[in-house]
Amino acid sequence: MSPKRDMSPKRQETSKILTSKILAVVVWLAVMVVAGIQFYQHRNFKEPVVLGPGVTQVKTLGDYFPEIKGTVNDCNIYILDSGQPGGTFFVVGGTHPEEPGASLSALHLVENARVTQGRLIVAIHANRSASTVTRPGEAYPQFYHIPTEWGVRKFRMGDRWSNPLDSWPDPEVYVHYPSRQMLAYMDVRNLNRTWPGRPGGLITEKTCYALIQLMKQEKVDAFIDLHEAELEYSVISTIVAHQTAAPVAAMASMTLTAEEFPIGMEFSPASLHGLSHREVGDAIGVPTFELEAPEPFLDRVRGATGEYLLLTGKDEFVMKAGEHGLLYEKIDENGWPIDVRVGRHNSTILKIAEVWSQVNPDRAVVIENVPRYAEVKEKGVGYYLLNPAEAPKDRVVYE
Ligand SMILES: [Zn+2]
Repeated sequence: MSPKRDMSPKRQETSKILTSKILAVVVWLAVMVVAGIQFYQHRNFKEPVVLGPGVTQVKTLGDYFPEIKGTVNDCNIYILDSGQPGGTFFVVGGTHPEEPGASLSALHLVENARVTQGRLIVAIHANRSASTVTRPGEAYPQFYHIPTEWGVRKFRMGDRWSNPLDSWPDPEVYVHYPSRQMLAYMDVRNLNRTWPGRPGGLITEKTCYALIQLMKQEKVDAFIDLHEAELEYSVISTIVAHQTAAPVAAMASMTLTAEEFPIGMEFSPASLHGLSHREVGDAIGVPTFELEAPEPFLDRVRGATGEYLLLTGKDEFVMKAGEHGLLYEKIDENGWPIDVRVGRHNSTILKIAEVWSQVNPDRAVVIENVPRYAEVKEKGVGYYLLNPAEAPKDRVVYE
């Protein structure tokens, strides 16, 4: 007779429960280990960036505010100096790293632009922390891949908010500084709700403070903050402008609409605080433009939230919402491909610089060799990305 047969029914029951508990712990551990490895690999993945012909210097954000030095948000700051007198433009992608068209457009500037008058300063990951986490609860992909002529470039997909590993816990209510406006608790980790920032705040507030110090120290004349938006949101396919940027934004929107694609212009609301297009102008008087391109991936009614949707912008559920008049932008079976979105940003940046330079000839910024909308749409984003393996070692940096 086996010992098990000797067990009383109660002991047998206890042993069964113990076995299932041990099994549950083993399965849980296995899932934790697999997920943990994936989270670790994503957080530590380094994107190569090839310094294009126009890049004359690479600094980091911590050079402008030492408390950021060596932190997760000590992002690269690319300086493209023509050596000729003129103005200075500052363009950032990655305010919200779940909007990849923004970072890719900034990358196009770094790898392609030649500046022949004034200076261009670029950040690809303005909130690096938010690019080291996605939204696993919403099944975001961790990476996305852009095909090129010579292979594939791999990028981190990110989230809207800084990584909780870098900023925790959130307050019950986020009280914006200095307006004291009360905002949603998680927006204390939203780089577009923490402007103008403060030196003693949490990491996202400190990052905005550092970006403001950069603009002051580099005497920036105009600031462009790149974004993408869901089609269910009214602020889309538009340039949101601080009142100091409004004349240039209006002219840029009119010419782009006549020459390349429809894009609107709207005024930054005076009483909505924490946003770049409000606070940067109010705090330090730098005219600020926020650009929004359509990204169906962000829509709540979307279907499968994968890399396919991220890159093609094709989704039958978002189309259905459009049929019911629930969207602020059109969508059909062609979707909103990443090439179209990046092309829109590129052309809008170039047009703003062109109009700015006409209006302010003494502070002109002339940018050449950046592909415009029609070119990116035709040849694809990847066509304009350089091969890190072929570039000289001292011309490759990592994000
Ligand atoms: Zn955004």
